[in-house]
Amino acid sequence: MKKIIIYDSTLRDGTQAQGISYSVEDKLKIVKKLDALGIKYIEAGNPGSNPKEIEFFERLKVLKFNHSKIIAFGSTRKIGIETKDDSNIQSLLNSGTSAVAIFGKSWDFHVTNILKTSLEENLNMIFDTISYFKSFKKEVVFDAEHFFDGYKANSEYALKSLEFAVKGGADSICLCDTNGGTFPRDIFDIVSIVANKFNIEIGIHCHNDNGMAVANTIMAIDAGATQVQGTINGFGERCGNTNLCTIIPNLQLKMGLNCIPDNNITNITSTARYISEIANVVHNERDPYIGKYAFAHKAGMHADAVNKDSSAYEHINPLLVGNERTFLMSEVAGRSAVMSIINKVDNTLTKDSKETKQIIDKLKEMEYMGYQYEGAESSFELIIRKILGTYKPLFKLVEFKVIINEPSVVNFNSTAVIKIIVENQEEITAAEGDGPVNAIDNAIRKALLKFYPELSKMKLSDYKVRVLDSNSASASASKVRVLIESTDGKEVWTTIGVSSDIIDASWQALVDSIEYKIVKYKST
Ligand SMILES: [Zn+2]
Repeated sequence: MKKIIIYDSTLRDGTQAQGISYSVEDKLKIVKKLDALGIKYIEAGNPGSNPKEIEFFERLKVLKFNHSKIIAFGSTRKIGIETKDDSNIQSLLNSGTSAVAIFGKSWDFHVTNILKTSLEENLNMIFDTISYFKSFKKEVVFDAEHFFDGYKANSEYALKSLEFAVKGGADSICLCDTNGGTFPRDIFDIVSIVANKFNIEIGIHCHNDNGMAVANTIMAIDAGATQVQGTINGFGERCGNTNLCTIIPNLQLKMGLNCIPDNNITNITSTARYISEIANVVHNERDPYIGKYAFAHKAGMHADAVNKDSSAYEHINPLLVGNERTFLMSEVAGRSAVMSIINKVDNTLTKDSKETKQIIDKLKEMEYMGYQYEGAESSFELIIRKILGTYKPLFKLVEFKVIINEPSVVNFNSTAVIKIIVENQEEITAAEGDGPVNAIDNAIRKALLKFYPELSKMKLSDYKVRVLDSNSASASASKVRVLIESTDGKEVWTTIGVSSDIIDASWQALVDSIEYKIVKYKST
């Protein structure tokens, strides 16, 4: 099986993404997760760039890895000085890694107009820096920045930049589509030329500005590249980098190329979710292979066909990547979509059971009232449990009050006081929050925590409100539908509430979310 070297840049290029910033602890968690997945190279960052990075590299020194090698990233030496006198080069050298990635310019326009030096000096900078690290026996990856744009502008010079890197002793050369605008055909042609010219490991580093980072990476591999750079979930500047969670399954499951140990590929979905969680971004549920909707079926006929034979509407078995098949609920979904959720709760029921009819009647009634269980399957599961009598309310609400201070001058502008009965015990708690829903969420959780400690791990990850019948004359009296997405770090579930009062709708979704978590917890 041909081997492809996977080179992860989640902690370097991936941190250029808008809204992403990691603490040192976050980064250590990510590194451990990538090692467990079996990633060969982890580009950890630029060790000289700030005190946080310096601490991170210090802490990496004492870690042991099963699969991964840590790479420190930096640029070629500064213009007009000796390599040893460059303080950034010294911090790379002192970072304690056995491998470094050095990026340098391949595009003549960048050399003369951005870097503002001579074409010759840039080549010397590449050679000097790489040979300096080689004199310390470091493994060196040369990242040829803007290589494809450079090749189109001045192919002779772009190739020369690689030549100087190879002469300097680089162990691999990585061709970067830094602006992310190159087309697959051009990637193939240019990588082919480089692969024929140099007898060295060739890497590919793509950005997704034209939506083709993954396609471009595959073309580069077809043309002879064997090292793939990318990031988990495709995190990165602008439109992101090559998504490793798309490219790895494509290469390994479809093209028969070995990227990570075979047994580990089923961990790719959980790894992707875990890193979204740490990055504190909403996981892209439409991502191939690893999104919640990657194997979700809606229309009745599709759901029916997949139940007969999953290959009817699925390109792979979701279990291969550790994902799962789901059926989206909707009025148009035939009974088989509903059946598969019913069978999750009770697998003895069939299409003809009288309980099934009761459930479907209830579903229709609720949909008529504005509930939509597509994407709120967890609330539907609770309805099934209620009808089957396997559900016992966890608590009884007596009342709650919310006080809102507006205009607000502090973070927490809302206070909720809640009175509930749990196991015949009355419980009154108060909590503050950022807005009324957050205050209620905090208060109810505080009240329930001593009865159900497993709730401490759960948190709300998304909150959406949609106004129903917005055409109505009195828009403020329209019904609203609230969807709450919750997570315990491993699983994600969505619940729904509908009411003409947004607080009431939020309350319904909130209670469902908590009850779902506890029902799940008890049944596992
Ligand atoms: Zn990049």
